[in-house]
Amino acid sequence: MPPVIDNERCIPCGICIDVCPEDVFFGCTKKEVPRPTYPRECWHCAACIIDCPRQAIKLYIPLPMRVYTMPKEVIPYTKVDNSIL
Ligand code: SF4
Ligand code: SF4
Repeated sequence: MPPVIDNERCIPCGICIDVCPEDVFFGCTKKEVPRPTYPRECWHCAACIIDCPRQAIKLYIPLPMRVYTMPKEVIPYTKVDNSIL
């Protein structure tokens, strides 16, 4: 599932556009709230979540990635119960 941006929290700084290694926000500019124009390209690396200065991004991270690879600081911004970790 692609990232979901909170319109109320986002200050369109463009950091998530710049850091995304897969160009999920391709075509978006720094003057608008980003939207995932290529949502299927998201591989849940969490770079956008970590670098967002407003904690405006939420992401459903597939279970195998959460268990094996997800940094602990990202977990509060995921949409699922991580109490098993
Ligand atoms: S999680 Fe990674 S691949 Fe997905 S939108 Fe964010 S930076 Fe791009
Ligand atoms: S990094 Fe966060 S605040 Fe900046 S444009 Fe992306 S979602 Fe908005």
